[in-house]
Amino acid sequence: MKIIVTGGAGFIGSAVARYIVKHTLDEVLVIDKLTYAGNLESLDDVWTNERFLFKQIDICDKQALDDVIVNYSPDIIMHLAAESHVDRSIDNPSSFIETNIIGTYALLESSLNYWRKLDQTRQSTFRFHHISTDEVYGDLHGTTELFTEKTPYSPSSPYSASKASSDHLVRSWHRTFGLPTIITNCSNNYGPYHFPEKLIPLMILNSLEGKPLPVYGNGQQIRDWLYVEDHARALYLVANQAKIGENYNIGGHNERKNIDVVNLICDLLEELVPNKPNGVINYKDLICFVTDRPGHDQRYAIDASKIYHDLGWKPQETFESGMRKTVEWYLKNSDWCNHIKDGSYARSRQGILKK
Ligand code: NAD
Repeated sequence: MKIIVTGGAGFIGSAVARYIVKHTLDEVLVIDKLTYAGNLESLDDVWTNERFLFKQIDICDKQALDDVIVNYSPDIIMHLAAESHVDRSIDNPSSFIETNIIGTYALLESSLNYWRKLDQTRQSTFRFHHISTDEVYGDLHGTTELFTEKTPYSPSSPYSASKASSDHLVRSWHRTFGLPTIITNCSNNYGPYHFPEKLIPLMILNSLEGKPLPVYGNGQQIRDWLYVEDHARALYLVANQAKIGENYNIGGHNERKNIDVVNLICDLLEELVPNKPNGVINYKDLICFVTDRPGHDQRYAIDASKIYHDLGWKPQETFESGMRKTVEWYLKNSDWCNHIKDGSYARSRQGILKK
């Protein structure tokens, strides 16, 4: 099979590309604009594989999308390209509206034009898989409820509102035009190749440099954490086996308070890196509480029973095993981190068209 993965130079997209190359016989074409969050070094493991291709494309560029989709002739499109950082969506929402809404619209239109021209057999097996977030459901503060696939949308941030819009567009392209779509809504991911602006890598890297560990508000916000490779495996399964028109919640059964996540990182570092930076006695001493994010949702929690019952998927990592792997990965991959810090990862974008 031939699979297009949009946003495949990002955190989850690169895990999906690695999963496809390493665990299947399928071919994969990553298309990615290479914003600040796109890093070709995250694709080093698969770059020279003959089943892997890369094209630098902005999903808002409809003509480029038309050309690449028709030329590659995919069986599946997995759509992960997005602006994904909530804080950035508060500082400057415009790129979230552009990429997450207008870009998804352009991709839906190109995919529909392509799909309509396929023969009947290929039309019946084609899938457009839209990858979304549990943040579209809003805040579960003060309840013990879980998000199910039937929970009404109630997004709080420009990020989650733009993702909610894209989900609605995808659903309507299925209902109105018949495009075979599937949507997944996943909880917070963590693991290797996570851009250092996000909570877990930020805390690991700041600790190693003896810098403060800024925790929003009182740190009591609860997220459900999923190891990224468990997510990539779920996505491949859904893209291949889910019924058209369905949506699935994906989660790790790992509800944790942010402060507990930071404490666990400190504990792992105490064990794995006992030689601390100058002046640091305990990593936990670096924790400091900073003004909370505006509109910050207090709790997200996923009911992932539908994907388990329908497709047999459940996470393989516990939070403890996944976090240990994650901290160890950041310790072993200081080059990947340093190239982001000094900006040289962006220079690896030159010459990418060699593929
Ligand atoms: P990321 O920010 O790490 O990666 C996004 C990728 O999209 C980057 O490579 C970037 O260059 C690319 N991109 C951005 N704008 C583009 C455009 N206009 N055209 C083409 N490419 C563009 O994000 P991520 O964490 O890997 O998330 C991937 C998807 O999964 C997103 O849709 C996100 O909403 C969703 N998601 C993420 C999480 C999470 O915890 N990270 C959880 C649930 C769902």
